[in-house]
Amino acid sequence: MQKRLNRSRNWSSPFQILYKMSGKIAIIGSGFSSLAASCYLAREGYEVSVFEKNATPGGRARQLKHLGFTFDMGPSWYWMPDIFERFFGDFEKDTADYYQLDRLDPAYKVFFADDTLTIGAGMDRICREFERLEPGSSSPLRVFMRRAKENYDIAISDIVYRPGHSPLELITPQTIRHIDRFFRSISGEVRRGIKNPKLLATLEFPSLFLGAKPEDTPAFYSFMNFADFGLGTWHPRGGMYEVVRGILSLAGSLGVHIATESPVDKIRVTHGQAVGLEVRGRFHPFDVVLSGADYHHTETLLDPGYRQYSTDYWESRVFAPSTLLFYVGFNRKLEGVEHHNLFFDADFEQHVTDIYDDPKWPVKPLFYANFPSVTDSGMAPGGCEAGFFLIPIAPGLEDTPELRSQYFDLILSRLHKQTGQNLGPNVLFKESFCVNDFREAYNAYKGNAYGLANTLRQTAFLRPGLRSKKVKNLFFTGQLTVPGPGVPPALISGKLVAELIQKKI
Ligand SMILES: Cc1cc2nc3c(=O)[nH]c(=O)nc-3n(C[C@H](O)[C@H](O)[C@H](O)COP(=O)(O)OP(=O)(O)OC[C@H]3O[C@@H](n4cnc5c(N)ncnc54)[C@H](O)[C@@H]3O)c2cc1C
Repeated sequence: MQKRLNRSRNWSSPFQILYKMSGKIAIIGSGFSSLAASCYLAREGYEVSVFEKNATPGGRARQLKHLGFTFDMGPSWYWMPDIFERFFGDFEKDTADYYQLDRLDPAYKVFFADDTLTIGAGMDRICREFERLEPGSSSPLRVFMRRAKENYDIAISDIVYRPGHSPLELITPQTIRHIDRFFRSISGEVRRGIKNPKLLATLEFPSLFLGAKPEDTPAFYSFMNFADFGLGTWHPRGGMYEVVRGILSLAGSLGVHIATESPVDKIRVTHGQAVGLEVRGRFHPFDVVLSGADYHHTETLLDPGYRQYSTDYWESRVFAPSTLLFYVGFNRKLEGVEHHNLFFDADFEQHVTDIYDDPKWPVKPLFYANFPSVTDSGMAPGGCEAGFFLIPIAPGLEDTPELRSQYFDLILSRLHKQTGQNLGPNVLFKESFCVNDFREAYNAYKGNAYGLANTLRQTAFLRPGLRSKKVKNLFFTGQLTVPGPGVPPALISGKLVAELIQKKI
């Protein structure tokens, strides 16, 4: 396919009009992967139009504002700052052109039934905290972190920027040298020399971002621990949505057109080739269709004969969890909490079993609490605190107002027990978001929150592909394809698919 090379050219002759038409690309959805792809493609001169079903762009990273409070509706952990820099760097910009980043110190606090653990910024402080809980644990931790860093370097330089076409992509001198790390689990890896269950839970927590049980996650993914302890936890002032705003601004400057409240109803295919989209009953012709909407949903926009994956295929996949979320305005400041807090004052193994092995609502869940106004005063009115609570649950669970309310009470009572503050009377408002909302808002399969888990059998070339095998000029991006769930992988996914469309990879 040809591309428009000169954005300012005058399209007057019939040949030039044809030339221009051959570079029209439609993108379904406006999550991070779609927005990233839109920038790369527009920069190359394609005419890019994004169709988003919701009223605001950003996908799972949308923002909720209410009564002077600001909430990120999805992602709140800004990890792997190098990937964000690399994205903006590809456009000769840097993050500081769009938002201000602060390194959080402490990065987060973990509440256990009888103690707390604070993860500071920097290995020396983290080692001191490990020593407090288990004397002698800092030296196996440092060994573990050396391997984690090696894995990070291999992942970033050798693996994640590959398109997932073939197993050969995974075979490099580095990966061969450390092949065992793909077949051992992260769960075994963290137990090499460390025994304290609180430290083990803290080390296993980052792999939960990958959407699978630590026992099913390859040891190689300890690179997430390097992202955590090594690279640190950052906060874009104003929240994660500032990153979306930054990419929207970049996309706008490159000429990307974004249409919100524009749900795509059908991908039209003629003679095996994608020819455009039907949006609210109107046909829009395009030369290439790229979807950043959930992969399963995108395939339902095609006639059955053009779908690559069957119902049985999707049923047999390990999906990352769904979540029960609350966005809460408190009319007071909280004490004893940090910006990020993990409530691990419950049985970690049991909760993991309730998500993956025997899907049901957990009796005593772990949960995550984010109070961004602890470090960023702009996130809540003066004297108030913005609270975001997340309970990971199995996708597809029954979701009712009664269940949500029951779990909100449970969160408040656990907060009371752990911090000594009875916050029930201080709740100004609460909004919730769960399985039914994920289905409704994002067309998410079984209401999943984070897409497809990164297990060994669902890594790289074993994930659904970036290019349709059945429809010419139809492409996919986002957390269900390569490299996987999370904001940094979504940015990488957008770059990979843009390169594939340009036939650079
Ligand atoms: C609660 C939660 C917490 C998270 N926390 C973190 C975190 O702390 N750090 C981190 O790095 N990652 C986190 N993640 C993961 C991260 O947010 C996602 O991996 C990433 O944002 C996914 O981007 P995406 O482009 O793949 O898809 P999405 O953001 O899902 O975008 C897909 C878009 O397609 C649109 N769409 C769907 N169907 C149609 C249609 N028919 N027509 C038009 N548009 C359509 C949807 O509305 C949506 O806007 C979190 C996710 C959730 C849900």
